[in-house]
Amino acid sequence: MTSKARENYDVVIVGASIAGCAAAIMYAQQGLRIALLDARSDIRAHKVLCTHHLQPCGAPILQRLGATEKLLALGMVETVPKFWTPWGMITPDAAENSPPPGFNVRRETLDPLLRQLANDYQNVDLLLGHRVSGLLTKNGTTAGVYGTEQGSAFTVEARLTVGADGKDSTVARSARCDSVSASNGRFSYFAQLSGLERPDGESSLSWFMDPDVAYLLPNDGGISVLVVFPALDKLGPFADDLSTAFLAYANALPGAPPVRREHIVGKIVGTKHFSTTLTDPVGNGFALIGDAAATNDPLWGIGCSWALETAQMLVDATAQMLTETTSHTLDSHRNVNAALTEYRSARASMTKHIDYMSGYAGGRKFTAIERLLISAATHDHDEAQRFYLFGSRLIPAEQYLSTRSVARAAQKHLRHCLRRRSVAGT
Ligand SMILES: Cc1cc2nc3c(=O)[nH]c(=O)nc-3n(C[C@H](O)[C@H](O)[C@H](O)COP(=O)(O)OP(=O)(O)OC[C@H]3O[C@@H](n4cnc5c(N)ncnc54)[C@H](O)[C@@H]3O)c2cc1C
Repeated sequence: MTSKARENYDVVIVGASIAGCAAAIMYAQQGLRIALLDARSDIRAHKVLCTHHLQPCGAPILQRLGATEKLLALGMVETVPKFWTPWGMITPDAAENSPPPGFNVRRETLDPLLRQLANDYQNVDLLLGHRVSGLLTKNGTTAGVYGTEQGSAFTVEARLTVGADGKDSTVARSARCDSVSASNGRFSYFAQLSGLERPDGESSLSWFMDPDVAYLLPNDGGISVLVVFPALDKLGPFADDLSTAFLAYANALPGAPPVRREHIVGKIVGTKHFSTTLTDPVGNGFALIGDAAATNDPLWGIGCSWALETAQMLVDATAQMLTETTSHTLDSHRNVNAALTEYRSARASMTKHIDYMSGYAGGRKFTAIERLLISAATHDHDEAQRFYLFGSRLIPAEQYLSTRSVARAAQKHLRHCLRRRSVAGT
């Protein structure tokens, strides 16, 4: 088998989805030469297993990529959700000066646009149909990747190798990266719905039913996405007759608009045993971003924004070093590894939140502290905003769940209960 060799790239990125395209664009904006590879050969390919919510923490990065206006023109929906809980509704304020909104946009709209934006840079070589199977090493450090394209072998050499190849990353596996996995105590199914009557308008609705969770998300193209995350003990009826069980579940959601079979566009899809994985994102001469670095519970709708955030963290830690140093000397490898250590530290800021989400993914009910924070958020404006900021990862888990935060919520909730009792007594 003849081998096609490409070399002299600053960065080779494996995976041309959200994380990979975002990193390629941000590196290209700084004049670096990028090879962006994907196993799929169609530039319009998109991830099917995704419910398309972009949490607000990803919004500034979409802007940096030059994607926001284009996506809004394609129908991307700005949204601040309302939350149903057993203790009342939480309605964060969507008015001026309130927390920033997130976005809903279907992956069939988002993925091709990001890939096209990356491809528009002359210094990005988008190599589709290239399946990577391992890492090249030279002088004891990672020097690129190898794989196959239409049955022919290829190699791509670069100063920095990036795995943006999603869950069960080939790059992470080839490099034998350390990782921790946790099983999921909920399953998920979702469908795209067309023609739904929405008496509540077009806002996103979330149900935190303790322990089940569900979302209804308006998207581009007049499509709403309904996703349900029931606890695993409810899997039986879904396994027996998926569409009947899905519709029954959807129509039992408190305050949800009626969902009929004819609303469903395409297939109901989902995951039964979706484990979460946290991987060390850095090794000798390579880094992991997006799901390759951390595959989180889809329940939090955070993976896309974190794919953008980790891409940004990596580019910010390494681009300047890559532009200022050029050669393949030993020093150059040392510089790469020093910059990668900065990326590892930046990513560590997410670890507590990731641990929290993995714990909740087990399928447990809310703790007494969480019930208190949620109850306070149902009647107190500031607590509602903070609940939303936490869910959007605009404030980290350690801040939201801190003793101070819980004490403040407890005080407010106690005052609220006393006020209600005295009103009831008069
Ligand atoms: C049911 C479900 C619902 C979800 N809903 C949401 C949501 O609402 N909001 C949200 O933010 N997140 C959601 N997520 C998570 C989100 O889909 C991921 O976090 C996100 O797609 C990660 O982006 P990525 O670029 O890291 O990886 P991916 O989007 O998985 O892309 C990986 C890319 O790498 C390519 N690739 C893989 N292996 C190779 C190889 N060997 N060689 C070359 N190329 C390769 C693939 O073809 C693909 O293009 C959901 C996930 C699931 C499972």
